[in-house]
Amino acid sequence: MRIRVDGAKCQGNARCWALAPDMFELNDEGYMEEAVIDVPDGDQEKASRAVRACPERALTLIDD
Ligand code: SF4
Repeated sequence: MRIRVDGAKCQGNARCWALAPDMFELNDEGYMEEAVIDVPDGDQEKASRAVRACPERALTLIDD
């Protein structure tokens, strides 16, 4: 499982980071940048919770 981050949609409210700080790395301005994040085994539930929490729909789950 991976998470695609659409950096253009991110509004920097950090809800993803609040739920999974080890998975999401905000830049110095507090935004997520364009990225594809590998979800470690065992963190799938946490990852999907974080994706659902993004109010801007900037995060998309990719189920491999
Ligand atoms: S929850 Fe969404 S809008 Fe907020 S920082 Fe994370 S990716 Fe950006």
